[in-house]
Amino acid sequence: MRIGVLAVQGAYAEHEKMLRALGAECFEIRQQTDLSGQMDGLVLPGGESTVMGKLLRELGLFEPLREEIESGLPVLATCAGLILLAEKISGEEDRHFATLPVTVKRNAYGRQLGSFYTEAVMKHIGKVPMHFIRAPYVETAGSGAEVLAQVDGRIVAVRFRNQLGLAFHPEVSGDTRIHSYFLQSILSKSEA
Ligand code: GLN
Repeated sequence: MRIGVLAVQGAYAEHEKMLRALGAECFEIRQQTDLSGQMDGLVLPGGESTVMGKLLRELGLFEPLREEIESGLPVLATCAGLILLAEKISGEEDRHFATLPVTVKRNAYGRQLGSFYTEAVMKHIGKVPMHFIRAPYVETAGSGAEVLAQVDGRIVAVRFRNQLGLAFHPEVSGDTRIHSYFLQSILSKSEA
């Protein structure tokens, strides 16, 4: 299985480490030519969504990736990655791939709560560690989007068809269950 990890900015290396530990092959996506091989899944890491959105467009990666996502490529998106997928960003005109029917609020926990750690139950997986780093949350999830986890009444994980969006960073926790869940979902899709 070959997973492409968007590597133009942000916390991509940690995802690669985790996916490799689980036996998946990873490659970094930095330019159009990186998209020429087989890609069974895509990781959109945390970082700064405005910077990533700009780089994606400048590097000519935006449209090909948007098309892949829209046509069903499995995606694991964390934090800024979730913002890239969101159909709407609260209070902003900008949007990026806009393939995930949610409204996200950026930097949503206020300055002092910008980064925190907690544990909460994620549907299909169980209680998982959650590191929030200047995180967004999902303000509203549209019909068809399955809410997978909430923290203090706020949605922090959703799934919609091929897209898994998380407000937190599972790649820094040392707990591989979310990545494993993602890889399993790709395997069961290809077996179906
Ligand atoms: N605050 C960042 C943004 O708005 C997201 C932070 C993160 O990915 N850890 O893009």
